[in-house]
Amino acid sequence: MESLILPCKTITPSKIVEIPPKSKTHSRNTSPKLINDAYLKRLCKLGQLSAAISALDSCSSTVRHSTLSYLIESCVDSNSLDLCHKLHARAKKWMHEPDPFLETKLVGMFAKCGSLDDAFKVFDEMRERNLYAWSAVIGAFSREKKWGDVVALFYWMIEDGDVVPDYYMLPKILQACGNCGDVETGELIHGMVIKRGLNGDLRVNNSILSVYAKCGRLSSAEKFFHGMLASDRVSWNALIKGYCQAGNIAEAQRLFEFMQEKGLEPDVVTWNVLISSYSQLGKCDVAMKLMTEMETRGVRPDVCTWTSTILGFAQNNRRFEALNLFREMILAGVEPNGITLMSAILPCSLEKDIRKGREVHLVAIKLGYGEDVLVGNSLVDMYSKCGKLEAARKVFDMISDKDIYTWNSMIAGYCQSGYCGIADDLFKQMQEFGVLPNVVTWNVMITGYIHNGDEDQALDLFYMMETNGGVKRDTASWNALIAGYLHHGQKDKALRIFRKMQFYGVKPNAITILSILPACANLIALRKLKEIHCCVLRSNLESEVSVANSLIDMYAKCGSVTYSRSIFAAMPSMDIITWNTLATAYVLHGCSSEAIELFERMRKLGYKPNRSTFASIISAYGLAKKVDEGKRVFSLMTEEYHILPCLDHCVAMVNLYGRSGKLDEAFEFIRGLPIELGVSIWSAVLTACRRQGNVRLAIHAGERLLELEPDNASTQRLVLQLYDLRGVSRDSSKMKRPQTKKLLTGPIGCSWIEGRNTVHAFVTGDFSQLDGKCMHSWIAGIEMNTKESKHQDMVSIQEEEEKETGGIHSEKLALAYAVIKCRQPPRSIRMVKNLRMCDHCHRFGKLVSSKYGCEIYVHDSICLHHFKQGVCSCGDYW
Ligand SMILES: [Zn+2]
Ligand SMILES: [Zn+2]
Repeated sequence: MESLILPCKTITPSKIVEIPPKSKTHSRNTSPKLINDAYLKRLCKLGQLSAAISALDSCSSTVRHSTLSYLIESCVDSNSLDLCHKLHARAKKWMHEPDPFLETKLVGMFAKCGSLDDAFKVFDEMRERNLYAWSAVIGAFSREKKWGDVVALFYWMIEDGDVVPDYYMLPKILQACGNCGDVETGELIHGMVIKRGLNGDLRVNNSILSVYAKCGRLSSAEKFFHGMLASDRVSWNALIKGYCQAGNIAEAQRLFEFMQEKGLEPDVVTWNVLISSYSQLGKCDVAMKLMTEMETRGVRPDVCTWTSTILGFAQNNRRFEALNLFREMILAGVEPNGITLMSAILPCSLEKDIRKGREVHLVAIKLGYGEDVLVGNSLVDMYSKCGKLEAARKVFDMISDKDIYTWNSMIAGYCQSGYCGIADDLFKQMQEFGVLPNVVTWNVMITGYIHNGDEDQALDLFYMMETNGGVKRDTASWNALIAGYLHHGQKDKALRIFRKMQFYGVKPNAITILSILPACANLIALRKLKEIHCCVLRSNLESEVSVANSLIDMYAKCGSVTYSRSIFAAMPSMDIITWNTLATAYVLHGCSSEAIELFERMRKLGYKPNRSTFASIISAYGLAKKVDEGKRVFSLMTEEYHILPCLDHCVAMVNLYGRSGKLDEAFEFIRGLPIELGVSIWSAVLTACRRQGNVRLAIHAGERLLELEPDNASTQRLVLQLYDLRGVSRDSSKMKRPQTKKLLTGPIGCSWIEGRNTVHAFVTGDFSQLDGKCMHSWIAGIEMNTKESKHQDMVSIQEEEEKETGGIHSEKLALAYAVIKCRQPPRSIRMVKNLRMCDHCHRFGKLVSSKYGCEIYVHDSICLHHFKQGVCSCGDYW
């Protein structure tokens, strides 16, 4: 930013092109006898610096001071470190006495040619160091942003004692203090400035102010600011920036207005400070408004303004706007820098928008960023995420100084696409290139292998990373394994890793919890869910909205909607997903009035219902048999909220009509639908027809289903049963030849309940866990007092064989086991079943619940039945 103002600043002559000696005449043998200063300078002017330096060896008399100085300047222009070294070696010979002037020039020469080490070496060897020498070396380290070294040099200078820093040097040291957070040194300099009477200098004062502001000492900064005799925009900007960095944007905004009241118009720096703060806080609209305002007030947005707004939009999921802004920026004629390009590539990569990504790539190439490592890394990442591995590889190969991010992006690209072999090659190659894999690299490799089903290799890497790789595992390493196992449906292995993780004292994060929770989304996993909930509390993750939302959902799926409600009630903050999740939970448990009440409360509090909210609420009205209200909500959704109905809403509407027996209206509804009627809608229609006992329409729905899924054995069985009921001959049916054998045996029913430490499985007709005689009498005992009322209005069809032929259904066996095996009947029984419950078992569940006063939860393949006091939450409609 600030250019180094050296007292001995070199003049920069136009670049001298070095021409190799053309002919032998200039070679050593025929060199002129007399080598004088004029000759050396002439060689330099002819671009033969190397020859001039070599000629120094043949000089017998003293070389003039000015000639050496001229040679040093020529070396700077040549930008050749090699020539610098050659000159330095010879110049030493001519400097018998300490020569601070020439030595300082040599320091500057090495620094400008890119060797801070050599510059420092020359400086270190100096016998006398004056203010210029110190300025040169501090300037050199400051230019390279070696802030810590600048501060160290300052202390060295003070200890040396002979030199007092001046107006030019102090701002550089103060800048270093601010940038490395060294407020103590800043205070020391502040005291020094007062003692030496330098406190009238605005530049020095602004630098002190900046140290306080940057280090977050805002009250000191403000006090100092008010004590300043004069202030300018730089002072205001420093203070405003300080407040922004501390996150106190309100105070920054106040100062921004106050500054204008004082008659100072904000400049582009002031605007940029505010705009970038608002963008970082995610307040992109405010940032945009400020940007428009600055333009109307005649301040042209520069590359920083554009970049911070684009980055703000990109990071806040407003990707489309980010890209639009990037386009506008180019149209406005502002040239993007590397960070702008990265900010524009980010949304393309998140959106997997390869077309726009290529456009940005083209712009990057045009601007000369084709081989830039930072832009290149973003491009590799973008192409990899879009699955364009060849393009990613091309960019990867173009980057000459690849860093760890480059390697990681490319390796991740191959892993995600399943090319673990190539990823492994790169993993080895990077080490050959001297780049050590970091924890991200290892995690990416583990994820790649486990997703590809190579569990052994993944585990090997997981153990190797600490032993051979010297890299400590982090939470993400564990998460990689957990997610991998869950990806392949291996819930138990995932849970085992989760437990092991806690055993090793590794704290899970929200990602861990969010991935492991769905592994407990069933009625027989309540114990596991509680275990994870405890871990959430221990890790203080319960205040994370996403974690709490998932807990609400999982408790409902485990049959404990009361827990869902209490987690909801304890949440300090919530989002629309929270409300939707609880509403869905209520609907799942048949609590229609609670769901409807929740919907009203949510609207009163100003939450805007979305698609998922409406699907739940229509279902809730269906459960409550309130058809008119359901219809009203449906039109509210389309007309007032402009939400196009999707499949879930249509299924909910069919159920709404079906539950109230309004078959005609259900058919009328689906006829008017603009969407293609899929399996889920016809299944809902079929259920409605069956529950109404309308065999003709049920056959119609069943046949439509078979058209969509001709090989679904369960539907085939249902349709055959319907044909029998209606007396349609099987041969005349439109159904394609059914695989009779498969249909005759039917699928095997299975039910699972959770025991103390294990899960018990029951198979229809299999008495191995129970005494048959005892079982039959128990069932008879329950059914004794109730006559099997034939539900005339329903078509009783089932997936399983009737109990007479196929044996007692598995859920009855499981219920018997749960009740008989205990001395006291349990308060609640939770069960999962693989097939749809039949009417008979459903009735049986109701009887057991009223006779033993226990709650029974059965999740069958269709829905959750919650039997309590002889009533089921499904309202006998499933
Ligand atoms: Zn049954
Ligand atoms: Zn039920």
